[in-house]
Parts: sequence; C-alpha cells; structure tokens
Amino acid sequence: MNLILLGAQGSGKGTLAKNISRDFGLVQISTGDLFRESIAKKEKLGLKAQAYMNRGELVPIELTLKILNERISKPDCKKGFILDGFPRSIEQAEALKEVANIDYVINVELPYEECVARLTTRRTCPNCGDIDNMTYKGYTGNCRKCGTPLFQRDDDKPEAIKTRLEVYEKTTTPLINFYSDRLFKVSSLGTPEDTYRPVKDFLSNLGRKK
Ligand code: AMP
Repeated sequence: MNLILLGAQGSGKGTLAKNISRDFGLVQISTGDLFRESIAKKEKLGLKAQAYMNRGELVPIELTLKILNERISKPDCKKGFILDGFPRSIEQAEALKEVANIDYVINVELPYEECVARLTTRRTCPNCGDIDNMTYKGYTGNCRKCGTPLFQRDDDKPEAIKTRLEVYEKTTTPLINFYSDRLFKVSSLGTPEDTYRPVKDFLSNLGRKK
C-alpha cells in the first residue's frame, strides 16, 4: 500500500506518518528530510536546494524528483511507503503517476493560525531529527530521544513560515481535488493520538476487507 499525506506545515503530518509507518510497516519518505540529509552531507543537490528551503520556497522540480526517485527505487519501498511532503503541486503529482501507484491520500486539516502557532514554537533535534514543541508538557530544550540541545530551523522563523504557508495554500491545496477519489480527511486540532485514531481505524479496516 502506498499513501500520501497532505497537510500544511505544522499540521502534524510528520508525526502521523511516523505512527502509520510503525504500525503498518510502510517506509516514511519525507522529501524535506531527504533534502536536509543531503545538505548535512554537503552533497551538490542539497546545497542547490538549501537557499530555496531557507526562504520557505519550493525547491525546483528537477531536484525534487531526483531525490524522490532515488529513494523510491530502493528495495525497502517495495513493501509500501508513505509520502510526507511530496507531491506539493499538481505538476509533481502528474510526475508521480509515472513512477508509483497511490492507493490513498490522507489530508490532515488544521486552521492557518494554529499551524503558525505550532511552527513558531517547534524545535528540532540537530542529531536525530526528532521534533518537540516548547508548549508541550515536559519540554526541556533537549531532545527527548538523544539529549542533544534542540534548535529552531531557519524555515520555522516567522518570515519563512508565512511564505511556506502561502505556497501551501496556493500550490498544494489543489491536490485535495486532484485526489478526491481516494481521499481520507482528518482534523489534527486534538492530540497526536486523537489524529491518529481515525486514520488507524480506516487503514486497519482496509486490511480486513482484503
Ligand atoms: P518540510 O520539511 O516538508 O517542511 O520541507 C522543508 C522544505 O524542503 C520545504 O519548505 C521546501 O523548500 C523543500 N521541499 C520539501 N519537499 C518538497 C517538494 N515536494 N517540492 C519542493 N520543495 C520541497
């Protein structure tokens, strides 16, 4: 089974993807993470993508397809995957049709103001990539998994957040119609567990029908 997760930045898409990946054995593919890994390794592709990312703009499609196709063609993806952060435009969705079949698309819904609030207080671990939020219970400023001090991503700063959410609204939301024949909607206003529960039920019932 191959899934796409749609949802604005800060909607909790990444956390939902991790839960699905753990319980359903699907590989989580985040194009944002792939770019950040490529930057960390100082690869040409990552360095080309970096300036766009820091401004909160979309990376050009040739670079994005290159990094996605490399990942998707690895053997572990044969058991199924969840795309988190791809596609982000109709053009990318059309290109995806050439390389993979998508069974379902989960749209994570959260109002604009709430996305801004969550992104502004989001902090990331530079070592393991785990994310936390300054407003969450037990937040210490250090990673809960590996203890490394957390930092604020450049693109989680106010100017970039505004651009990212504008780009999402304009370029990515048309995908909701594009995938209307296989769409499952969920609100992420509650806790991560509240968001995951209906998705887990939906996916588990599919399994039973087979
Ligand atoms: P994310 O971690 O998903 O918020 O992605 C961080 C940044 O990586 C985005 O703001 C874009 O600059 C870039 N990026 C990630 N996925 C894509 C994509 N599918 N198309 C273009 N740029 C992307």
